This record gives sequence, structure tokens and C-alpha cells, in this order.
Amino acid sequence: MSHMSSHLAVGLCLAALVSIGASAAGALTVRAALASTAVGAVVFGAGGVAWSIPLLAFFVTSSLLSRLGRDSTPAPTNHDAPRRTARQVLANGFMPALWAACHFVLPANAWSVLFASALATAAADTWATELGRQSSKSPRNALTGQRVPTGTSGGVTLPGLAASLGGSTTVAAACLMGDVIGPAGAGAVVLAGFGGSLVDSLLGAALQERRWCSTCLEEAEDTIHARCSITTSYLSGVRGFDNDWVNLCAGAFGSLLGLAFTHLR
Ligand SMILES: [Zn+2]
Repeated sequence: MSHMSSHLAVGLCLAALVSIGASAAGALTVRAALASTAVGAVVFGAGGVAWSIPLLAFFVTSSLLSRLGRDSTPAPTNHDAPRRTARQVLANGFMPALWAACHFVLPANAWSVLFASALATAAADTWATELGRQSSKSPRNALTGQRVPTGTSGGVTLPGLAASLGGSTTVAAACLMGDVIGPAGAGAVVLAGFGGSLVDSLLGAALQERRWCSTCLEEAEDTIHARCSITTSYLSGVRGFDNDWVNLCAGAFGSLLGLAFTHLR
């Protein structure tokens, strides 16, 4: 067995262990555990322990934050955090895995920056979503500045923005620790993650499909409303361009921002 395939096999085993654990803890669906195993195996196979630590830092903090957030929510909405789906895992994990694979095929510093920035964007957005949800003030639409109900796509809050900076800084620090990027690159990655999550909010406000649940009389993101399990109807936005597509696009954008920032210095 070649060095590469043994590395990939070790990665597959470790990623499967982490994913099975997360699934058992109720953070992932079974299909999501398969998706996160694939992402983890590619990242470990391509970048070893150094590249896996930032991925774990993102994964563990996001899972914990979504759990903590739910526990402190008042009674009517105090249900267990919904398990992440395979689509949600890939919306955040596809870009980092892609850049890791590219780095494996043709090693270059640029891939490290792209990888770190994509992951920083995912962390920034997830932290902002989970912590912003807890803000007592209602968020403002990222485009218009008008107040919108908590949980609305494209809504931003000040605590959410601070959380987003915390998420991207955590990933950048984890990358720095493993020498995935240098000290100068870390600054660019922090900004890229923050910028990428702003783009996420803007895309969410401008393009994301909005749907309406006529049973709960509220806006919904999904075709089937999570609250009542009844089919929602189209309201506005680009049909099919849901939160997962927004996250994927924001990850791609955040990656390029990181590359741009490292070259602008
Ligand atoms: Zn409903």
C-alpha cells in the first residue's frame, strides 16, 4: 500500500469515528455522518493532522454552539437542535475538501489559504447564526437595514457579527497552530472568513428563496416547514437557491477573498 493510500485509510477511519460519535450524539443524520466522513477523510488524506485540526475546530465548535443555543431558548421553541443533514454538511465542507484535494494533487501555498478561508467562512457564518439567534434584539436585513424576525435569512445582529469574527479567528488560529498558514496569512484568513460570512448574509437577503407557511403564518426556508411538517409555498427570491446554496457560494467567495487579501498586502 502506498504512503498516500495508507494516509487516506487512516483518515477514513478517524473521520468515521468522529462522524459516528457526532451522529450518536444527535448532531448529524446518518447520511450527514457519511458526508462528514468523506470530507474528513479527504482533508486528513491530503493534509494530515495539521489540516484536520482546523476542520475539527470548526466541526466541534459549531455542533456545541447549536446545542448550547437551543438549551437556553425559552419554552415554546426549546426543542433539541435539529440534526444537520448531508446537504448542510457539504454546503460547508465541500469547498475546504476541494482545496485540500487540489493541494494534494499540486502542492502550493495558495491552496492552504483557500482551504483556511473557506473553513473560516463556514465557522464565521455558523457562529453568527447560532449566537445571533440568542440576541434579544431582532436582526436587521443585511441589504435594507430594516428589522426582520429572528432567524430570517440575511438578517444580521451586532452580537452575530462579533460571533462571526470569533469563528473566523478560531479557524485561523487552528491553521496557524498546525503551520497550515503563516502569521501573515492568518490575518488575511480572519478577514476573509468575516467577509465571506457578510457575503453569506447579503446573498441570503438578496437572492435566497423565501417561502411561506400558511399554517404557522410565518416565513420559512424549506419546502417542508420544520415546525409543522406542512408544505410551504413560494414567496420570493431565486427558486431552489436555498440556505445550503448560499453557504456554498459564500464559502467559494470567502476562499477567493483570502487569496486576494494575501496578495494585496
Ligand atoms: Zn408551519
